Amino acid sequence: MYTFREIWGNGRLIRHLRSAVQNNRTSHAYLFIGGAGAGKKLITNTFAKYLLCSNRGDEPCGVCESCRVFDSGNHPDVIHVTSPKKTLGVDEIRGQILETVDVKPYHYEKKVYILHAAHTMTVQAQNALLKTLEEPPAYAVFLLLAETTELFLPTVLSRTVTLKINPLTEGELCRYLVEKDFMAEEEAAFFAAYGQGRIGHALALLEDEAFRRMREDVLLKMSKLPSMRLSEALLLAKEWEGFKNDPRLLDIIGLWYRDLMIIKAVKDERFLIQKDKKKMLYSADSLEGLAKKAAAVTKAKERLMQNANFRLTLEVMLMELKENEIQ
Ligand SMILES: [Zn+2]
Repeated sequence: MYTFREIWGNGRLIRHLRSAVQNNRTSHAYLFIGGAGAGKKLITNTFAKYLLCSNRGDEPCGVCESCRVFDSGNHPDVIHVTSPKKTLGVDEIRGQILETVDVKPYHYEKKVYILHAAHTMTVQAQNALLKTLEEPPAYAVFLLLAETTELFLPTVLSRTVTLKINPLTEGELCRYLVEKDFMAEEEAAFFAAYGQGRIGHALALLEDEAFRRMREDVLLKMSKLPSMRLSEALLLAKEWEGFKNDPRLLDIIGLWYRDLMIIKAVKDERFLIQKDKKKMLYSADSLEGLAKKAAAVTKAKERLMQNANFRLTLEVMLMELKENEIQ
């Protein structure tokens, strides 16, 4: 649990953190920037555990008392700063940081504050934290997790070391899913592409049975669409009403046409997203015809985002998908 070995990608960032600790050159405040599911929690937790480890190897040792307590989730010198509200306000900063920061660590050399969703900190909260960031006690380390730097005061940014967590490439994420035995390579390619390089996203999708079932169902129907009568095709709008609130429905249909276009245009399976469905991926349409259909899906997606009626929007889309069909 929580070792650098477990972290995929972001090699430079990890080398930086490791050498800072080994050379006793850690900063008092770090700002980790990365999108949802990019691995912010895994990286900051590992770094916190490493900062507190009593053995100074290349990894948190996992056997010293600090590491063991850390893994239990009850480390006395690790404070997770969170908020019950949508923002991290001045009350949380006061109650969870300012009132405790002058108390020395219980057992260890450092006291680590992990600020979750730090990008939601209000201006007042940031100002309240600023003084502590300017003159922190020697033992204190602040790890701020955020999705973007945009909402931070320049004064706060100037007191923190900003480190960007990069999503994995599709290839890296695909390799991760296969090596961790989550799935066979062909299916992994889809989840990797759909997860956009974010392990957290890909894993959440994997565990999402409803998503997998929806995808199977929708792709099967899409493969049969050309042989359906228009009246049958329009019934899909009703049938899919159960997925009404799931924007991924149209993503899946959009990716279907994307892959059909790839096959038409470059005839190279390597570029397919839905490699596991390559046997189904066939269309008699021309490339232009497929492009029009992909555009119809995008249009439907936009309409739904503007709260258009689901059933009607899908019927219009299905009609466009059946238009000028080559049988
Ligand atoms: Zn240790």
